[in-house]
Amino acid sequence: MKKFIVIFLAVVFVSAALISCVQADSDTERWRPEPAVFNPDWPTLIMGTSAGFFPFEFVAMEGEAVNARYAGIDISLAARIGRELEVNIEIMDMEFPGLIFALQSREVDFVAAAMTIRPDRAEQVNFSVPYFTAGQWAVVRQDSPFQSIADLAGTVVGVQIGTTGDFSVTDGNINFQDIVRFNQPAPGILDLIGGSIDVFVIDAAVARAFAATHHEQIRAFPDMDFFGAEQYGMAFHLEDTELRDRFNSVLERLIAEGYVEYLYSQYTTYFSPAQ
Ligand code: GLN
Repeated sequence: MKKFIVIFLAVVFVSAALISCVQADSDTERWRPEPAVFNPDWPTLIMGTSAGFFPFEFVAMEGEAVNARYAGIDISLAARIGRELEVNIEIMDMEFPGLIFALQSREVDFVAAAMTIRPDRAEQVNFSVPYFTAGQWAVVRQDSPFQSIADLAGTVVGVQIGTTGDFSVTDGNINFQDIVRFNQPAPGILDLIGGSIDVFVIDAAVARAFAATHHEQIRAFPDMDFFGAEQYGMAFHLEDTELRDRFNSVLERLIAEGYVEYLYSQYTTYFSPAQ
């Protein structure tokens, strides 16, 4: 009997040791995005973005940034295009509604910020080819009964100001009790968890990431009848068609090679908004 226990314990210890090896291995092998290349001989372009929008742009932990303090699909994509066009990319982080003006006033050279291509925006900026299909989702508290946007009539909705979430709620045919506009998504999600708003409408990938991180408090759902499909584009000054075309030539190839999808799957698998 004693012998049996000894063998049993030995098996347990060996298994535990094996499991910890596996964990250590997968930790050291965790995917990390490729850092941006900086070459002093290359010209520098300033990229405007709004880095509170995981998985597209966020402030990364030390050792995990692509460019300065930033990581995300747009940051990696721009870094890759920069490397191929032999330009350095410098990130300028600001609130989303200021990006178009920053481009028009040439404070930034281009924008990559999960920006939806819209006809009204296309009068103000030169969009690249579309590189990502998106749309709006609703984020609600776990204990709430809502299943569709129509269920939310009479409730208080939160949106990020000046975004397509804001426009779809403002222009839509649902009578909300109130629309609360936030400068950034994270404070809206906090207010949703805290109970001062009932729903927060935001781009699908961002909604799902917040719901995954705070799954005990919130959940997210789409509503195809209410929200239309959207496509993201990088944006350039109206006069910078040549620069836009140079970006397009690389972007088109990267899309065809599945690079944007690859970045999406890697970022959503190996990073979370809490980081
Ligand atoms: N895709 C949305 C828009 O273009 C939101 C973008 C964002 O907040 N970064 O309005």
